[in-house]
Amino acid sequence: MTRFSLRAALVSALLVTTAAAAAAARIPSPSEFLGMSVGADRTVADYRQILAYFKALDAASPRVEVFVLGKTTLGEDLFLAAVSSEANLANRKRLQEIARKIADPRGLTDAEAEALVREGKVFLFITCNIHSTEIGASQMAMEWAHALATAEDAETRRRLDEVVLLLLPSINPDGQIMETEWYRKNLGTRYEGGRMPWLYHHYVGHDDNRDWFMLTQQETRVVSRAVYHEWLPQVWLDEHQMGATGPRIFMPPYSEPVDPDIHPLVWRDVNLIGANMALRLEQAGKSGAIYGYVFDAYWPGGTKNTAWWKNISGLLTEVASARFATPVRIEPSELSGGGKGLVEYGTQTNFPNPWPGGTWRLRDIMDYERIASDAILETCAERRADFLKNALARARAAIATYGAEDAFRIPADQRDAAGAARLAALLAEHGVELRAAPNGDVYVPLAQPYGRFVNELLTPQRYPETKLVPGKDIVRPYDVSAWTLPLMMGVSAERAPLPAALVAWKAVAAPLPLDGAAFALAPGSPESARLVNAGLRGGAVRVARTVVSAGGREWPAGTFFLDGAAAKAAAGKAQPGQSWTVVGALPPDAEPLRPPRVGIYKPWTASMDEGWTRFVLEQYGFEPKTLENKSVRAGSLAAAFDAIVLPDLPKEVIATGKPKRDEGAMRYSPDLPPEYAGGLEKEGAAALKDFVEKGGTLVALSSSTEYLIDELALPVRNAVARSSDLAIAGSILRAEVAPGHPVTYGLPSEVAVFQDEALAFDTVLPGPEMERRVLATYPAAPADVLLSGWMRGPEAIARKAAAVAITCGKGRVVLIGFRAQHRAQTPGTFPFVFNALYWSTAR
Ligand SMILES: [Zn+2]
Repeated sequence: MTRFSLRAALVSALLVTTAAAAAAARIPSPSEFLGMSVGADRTVADYRQILAYFKALDAASPRVEVFVLGKTTLGEDLFLAAVSSEANLANRKRLQEIARKIADPRGLTDAEAEALVREGKVFLFITCNIHSTEIGASQMAMEWAHALATAEDAETRRRLDEVVLLLLPSINPDGQIMETEWYRKNLGTRYEGGRMPWLYHHYVGHDDNRDWFMLTQQETRVVSRAVYHEWLPQVWLDEHQMGATGPRIFMPPYSEPVDPDIHPLVWRDVNLIGANMALRLEQAGKSGAIYGYVFDAYWPGGTKNTAWWKNISGLLTEVASARFATPVRIEPSELSGGGKGLVEYGTQTNFPNPWPGGTWRLRDIMDYERIASDAILETCAERRADFLKNALARARAAIATYGAEDAFRIPADQRDAAGAARLAALLAEHGVELRAAPNGDVYVPLAQPYGRFVNELLTPQRYPETKLVPGKDIVRPYDVSAWTLPLMMGVSAERAPLPAALVAWKAVAAPLPLDGAAFALAPGSPESARLVNAGLRGGAVRVARTVVSAGGREWPAGTFFLDGAAAKAAAGKAQPGQSWTVVGALPPDAEPLRPPRVGIYKPWTASMDEGWTRFVLEQYGFEPKTLENKSVRAGSLAAAFDAIVLPDLPKEVIATGKPKRDEGAMRYSPDLPPEYAGGLEKEGAAALKDFVEKGGTLVALSSSTEYLIDELALPVRNAVARSSDLAIAGSILRAEVAPGHPVTYGLPSEVAVFQDEALAFDTVLPGPEMERRVLATYPAAPADVLLSGWMRGPEAIARKAAAVAITCGKGRVVLIGFRAQHRAQTPGTFPFVFNALYWSTAR
């Protein structure tokens, strides 16, 4: 190099450095930009501030690009920030195409696949703060993105060159805003850092992480679409927080059990990443990291869990919580294990350096999360080619698991054709490829990348009874143990060979005929309720209480009849697969139906089942009104309501508002402000009694049946409450349906019911003022009870009643002992609830 050119090189190097430094200087830190000290005690940025900051980063840095994925339930912009090298972001479309081909390598030669592995980048998807009280990661995300956008060191540049980070600072923005508002409002009071009296998602609260195979909520659908239709990441990390008195951070390896149908390379990737997280935390002097603890690898309801069956390496971190952004001090003697993988708090091979106790604050949470996040980015960069190769191998193995002929058939012609169409649409939403036969039957070929996922959701679960030591005790499931969609949706889908001559599937709702004076609509599909409820608001609807004739044929009890005006109002709500039959006129011997005026009881304990019930009833057009303690206690309920639904709640919560002590509570929960204290108390119980005496209908779901049994002295008792042999973990059971009752109209003789607790009824002969009718019964043979999932001691529940209807004078009580609308995942049993609501207006 000549003297001159050396000088030129020095000058240009200096210019580059100065330019980079200047650019970095122009990019403000989150604290500078927001004018607050991010991560300080009692300081939180809300979601709108976070979005504003990321937009500023996008504007200032070529390494950050913000994508708004869609709207939340309450109308916020749900966004993802792509963080990577400038070159990768400029080349985004090509990199996405490579990710898509790696996720679906059908038709690729080995040479083409190898070329893609060489060219591709790891797509690392990181979701934060799905649980809104777990606030740390939403704050950490800003600092991390700022660091990545401004770093000039070779190592960071290399990582951003190998990896496209897809960072979602919060996937429940509505809840993030609610919780930060609640926290700020109560700062400095005795309620600081305490729980909110309502759900942190408009409908589902903490269950927003239980929706990932059913995709019922807006946020789930928006994020799921980004993952499985747009970005196709190979690695997904979901960042959570856990209780305050145990380990400081959990990272994989997961605890037992593991689902045998997930490709082992998922766990090999995941464990490698987890090991590096633990290493980097230890090097940084952060104690209390644990693996093989509490969180298992079995159930597909959570964010990244569903992804395991779709060949993605999904990881979870759980960091100990503070009291939201308020520090907590944990005495050494308060530290506890108690979970699977750490029975007593102390040194173990999976927990070599227990945290000694002390003060724990938001900044600690963010520091642990940041180290774990940097570690996963590091491993993804280090192992770029391996992770792409592994993703490719998993997709290929999934496709090769089945033969070209292997398929499921969802027949078009079945009892609930609309439900069948809904199942097909759900699979398509998941990114599953469907085919259609000329007769409308849907075929799901299994030899496709998501073939194992399809098989998992369409067949019964048999829980792996893993034992950690010899003996009787098995490892219990973390959440539910069954998710067999055809059973839960009440539709049929069976293995059948894939025929030739199929076409691509498309969801089409055939327009319903409107040229007639009246239309007969079969009951039994939950989808019928959408049409009936819309019809009731536009015209006349009748329901057959006995067999009636119309249009030259007989119609069974339960059939709905809509006149022309009602049909016109309803037709726009028709779902694919739905149909009605033109009949001459409304049959005079069918009973006029009026829209049931429905109330849902809502305690101040942020009941997720209350939210799910409200969601389901709103979706199907029931327009329910919320009844708080105060409004129930005020009485005169019969003037305003035909039916009142009590969601699944412990009887103590309904009576007193005191939640049962939360084992392993997520964080400390001081009392609620006085306006949210208490339950129905004596006045509320009296008001419900008065409601029934005046002709109202009470519908109690699952646990709340016990409240009504006690308060109304019903001729029913929980037959299995004290049965020590019976254990059920969110399983699907068989129940036989008693036909002919208004609550069982249209239901098949046998239904699959979702059950998650020891609850089944004995009835007794009541006095003359009441009549009871068993609506559904568990089978007499214990071996017939379980359809999917795990249970012990079916003998205890055999031949017991699953649901009971009681008439008391003009009033009615419906006790549904199973989870009829559990997480909106059980449409097959929605009709129990919907029929009970229609029954409330019967003469
Ligand atoms: Zn969580």
